[in-house]
Amino acid sequence: MIIDQTKCIGCGICTLYCPADAITVAVNAEGKRKACIDQDRCLECGNCIRKRVVKCPADAIYELPKEERSVGRQMRRFFSDPSTTHPLTGVPGRGTEEVKTNDVTGRVCRGELGFCLELGRPVLGTDVREIEKATMALAELGVQLENSNPLYDLLKDKEKGTFKEEYLDERFVSAIIEFTVPFERGEEILNKVKEIAQNAGTVFSLDVVCCYDEDGTLPVLALCEKMGMEPRFNSKVNVGIGRPYVIEREDRERRNAQ
Ligand code: SF4
Ligand code: SF4
Repeated sequence: MIIDQTKCIGCGICTLYCPADAITVAVNAEGKRKACIDQDRCLECGNCIRKRVVKCPADAIYELPKEERSVGRQMRRFFSDPSTTHPLTGVPGRGTEEVKTNDVTGRVCRGELGFCLELGRPVLGTDVREIEKATMALAELGVQLENSNPLYDLLKDKEKGTFKEEYLDERFVSAIIEFTVPFERGEEILNKVKEIAQNAGTVFSLDVVCCYDEDGTLPVLALCEKMGMEPRFNSKVNVGIGRPYVIEREDRERRNAQ
């Protein structure tokens, strides 16, 4: 975002709403208070131009036209402003629908574990280089990232987990690393996640996605207990009201294997 210096009256209202602490007000050479945005820190989250959030009395904050913003700067906006539709997925937000629609996507079936590492939230945001550290660590284990997640298209080398140069110096509010592995690899992956946590320069949360077994047990709970990880009470449970495609996929794969 940019602040029009000729319009700004230096009231400082906008500084209260910036999650990246990117806006400062200072007295300029003419002795007038003016706000300015640090372009390195700005995540392009859009808060300061959201009229129902920040009412700039001078209407001084604006966004450059798309053609004047770099590819990386445009990508900041898509990963930082959940009200935008991500051009790489066609849906709002920085990830996919993850487990929320697993019934109809059938992405994670019995015998598998899905993982979502959300880097940057709450509050801190994340450099793309931080995301790359995590994707490279996971790539060492041969993990294949979910190809419908928008991060997938930013990768330069999908086997090594490295990112294209044009995105490396960007910063996002958050990004979600998603992948699915056979259940028996769960311990190995969780050990790697612990290693990533020790080296992380930002915060992240971890979701583990798992289907109930036919006997009504949730196998991931025993795995978490073994790993000394306590699931939080606010986990999401998909009750299967939609078309249970996950079962269709399992049945089809079972038939194909016979
Ligand atoms: S709210 Fe508008 S006028 Fe006030 S400091 Fe920010 S940009 Fe300037
Ligand atoms: S777009 Fe977001 S991060 Fe950038 S200056 Fe405005 S509020 Fe701060």
